Amino acid sequence: MIYRRSSALFAEAQRYIPGGVNSPVRAFKAVGGNPVFVKEAKGAYLYDEDGNRLIDYIASWGPLILGHAYAPVIEAVIEKAKKGTSFGMPTEIETRLARLAVSMVPNIDKIRFVNSGTEACMSAVRLARGFTGRDKIIKFAGCYHGHSDSFLIQAGSGAVTFGSPNSPGVTQGTAKDTLLATYNNLESVKALAAANKGEIAAIIIEPVAGNMGCIIPEENFIKGLRELCDQENILLIFDEVMTGFRLAKGGAQEVLGINADIVTFGKVIGGGLPVGAFAAREEIMGHLAPDGPVYQAGTLSGNPLAMSAGLAMLTELNNRPEIFRSLADKTQYLGQGMAKVLTDNHIPFQMNRFGSMISIHFTEEPVVDFESSAKGNNAVFKKYFHGMLDQGIYLPPSAFESYFLNDALSYDDLDETIAALSNIAKDLH
Ligand SMILES: *Cc1c(COP(=O)(O)O)cnc(C)c1O
Repeated sequence: MIYRRSSALFAEAQRYIPGGVNSPVRAFKAVGGNPVFVKEAKGAYLYDEDGNRLIDYIASWGPLILGHAYAPVIEAVIEKAKKGTSFGMPTEIETRLARLAVSMVPNIDKIRFVNSGTEACMSAVRLARGFTGRDKIIKFAGCYHGHSDSFLIQAGSGAVTFGSPNSPGVTQGTAKDTLLATYNNLESVKALAAANKGEIAAIIIEPVAGNMGCIIPEENFIKGLRELCDQENILLIFDEVMTGFRLAKGGAQEVLGINADIVTFGKVIGGGLPVGAFAAREEIMGHLAPDGPVYQAGTLSGNPLAMSAGLAMLTELNNRPEIFRSLADKTQYLGQGMAKVLTDNHIPFQMNRFGSMISIHFTEEPVVDFESSAKGNNAVFKKYFHGMLDQGIYLPPSAFESYFLNDALSYDDLDETIAALSNIAKDLH
């Protein structure tokens, strides 16, 4: 494929925007080469500035679970825009989206809308600290919770792709309140809880991790976290920015059968517009301003365009819950097809899959945490990524990212993807 125009646009972008991008992973640093500039998209396909058609496996990193330019979402946004784009005053549509979200997700009474997943996680931790009167939090190496200071400690995906586990600019004072545990290792959490008794406000986790590849929580691990939190009066925060409204109506809480104390959302809940949210039971949400003392605000929070996109998206998912099953089936089909090709070609790999999240790791060892994920062979990954891209398959440009399937993908698209892999498999040694 030819990327002449994308290359020229990237060169121009780099003159005015740091690295030419507004979010680092887009720059292709982990895989080399120039990023593809997209012009438009419809359903399962991206159309780039050079006129190539690409089958999309990132879906804007998750939000577009029903495919690009999904008609009910687009129409809702257009109709809303004609009536004004922002007021800084309450609107009915905020309540409608809140009511629907609360009805779909187990174990929450109230929800507050913000503008990104980063904001949601940052605010959830502030709320947990305000509620418990404690300062420290536990996070897991390789889990990403957005780019706010407290979380840029071994933060997975983007942050690791760029080799900066702890970002400069995060102060020692902030970093010391974030304790780091190992995913799928309950003992590592118990040790931190024992050494910091009475000081931990919250444990925050991606209940199914997607920012070090897709990593599935072991049952005893996730249950053990819940029990530990109950014993120690620690709040359990499920960061469902990726899994919320993707794994099921009720997200990972529903699928895993574990209740969290605070849940954060982003991605799907905004239908492709900037929305994040955090939610909890009444007792906790009552601590939030203006009802309580924990401050949190936003000029564009609950923005009518964003709310209308989110409402159209969640309404579809609520009315057609069979989508989750069908997406998981497609993901399984893709996974089995790709696994067969790699096995037949004697390429060592691990494949992790949960619902419509899937990742391939070029390593012999099971991938269960950040350390095992980081053992993947990046030279092979680069060949794989570019080999697929050359054949019109757009995968996440980093081995630390999960793929996100969308409902517009057909079985023909999946077959084309599997065939593309078999064309390049012999070169992946
Ligand atoms: C994407 C993501 C975030 C950050 O959301 P933004 O909207 O990019 O700020 C937080 N947590 C998880 C699990 C994510 O996947």
